[in-house]
Amino acid sequence: MRAPAKVNLHLSVGQRRPDGFHDLTTVFHAIGLYDDVVLTRADASTVSVEGDQAGLVPTDGSNLALRAVHLMAQHTGNDPAVAVHIRKGIPVAGGCAGGSADAAAALVGCDALWGTGLGKDELAGLGAQLGSDVPFGLHGGTALGTGRGEQLTPVLGQGSYSWVLALSDGGLSTPDVYAQLDRQRESGPVGVVSSPAGVLSALRQGDAVALGRALGNDLQPAAIALKPPLRLLLEAARDLGALGAVVSGSGPTVALLTRDEDHGIALASALSGQGVCSGVRVASGPAAGARVVEAH
Ligand code: ATP
Repeated sequence: MRAPAKVNLHLSVGQRRPDGFHDLTTVFHAIGLYDDVVLTRADASTVSVEGDQAGLVPTDGSNLALRAVHLMAQHTGNDPAVAVHIRKGIPVAGGCAGGSADAAAALVGCDALWGTGLGKDELAGLGAQLGSDVPFGLHGGTALGTGRGEQLTPVLGQGSYSWVLALSDGGLSTPDVYAQLDRQRESGPVGVVSSPAGVLSALRQGDAVALGRALGNDLQPAAIALKPPLRLLLEAARDLGALGAVVSGSGPTVALLTRDEDHGIALASALSGQGVCSGVRVASGPAAGARVVEAH
């Protein structure tokens, strides 16, 4: 299976709810940066990971792909004895929902492996039990997310967009970033991003310049407070002529919108020369959701 990373083109965060989650309104956008997940029938359920950041991914029962296998097995009455192998292309703890992508891939993969024929809605319902971003990992494309982000409405749009992802050393924990936002809000008013209308209208028109201007994320000040060098990275992105730049989700990955693929490649190489990030990736969006790419 292949499952895409996501960036949030818009992310507005409401107050903390009694259950600890925050209501949010977000525009998810899947981009062509992938994790590949291989499922093989085995004697026991196991998980292995390869890639530069493999050491940061748990290989015990907390791995989201393994949790997805167990949830599917329980739900459908199948034997969870499956070996899960993950080739990590999505930055870990980077705000790009890599763990959620793996869970989405495992749900789709178990459905194919066991021939359970669950519909998209049923898979999404299981996914939402694993994490707020898992339903979007299944959906892909561009979608408006409400609730905790698990309630999705497809977004009408045209064209594709060229992105540069600027990576940072050391991830940010999503709960830490939300807690930082709560603290900032207690100690005084903080700017909130407006409605997603600007992003949605730019997408409808396929207008990359307008989209670049409309990008916004309420978690960005909290992510910057926890990782101050992000400010330099965002400034460098603007100085180098990105159409827009925004911290993706809880960060620290920064998504830079560029005019086209050539502009993306030029901007990526200029950015990596400035020493403001630990790595760059070029990817286009929207990309398809988690899907089976090869079956034996
Ligand atoms: P999000 O944007 O959905 O909040 P993220 O992109 O910031 O998440 P992930 O890469 O999904 O972060 O990982 C967050 C944490 O989840 C990791 O630090 C890791 O401990 C744990 N984790 C569990 N399963 C996985 C997995 N399959 N891949 C990556 N991380 C995983």
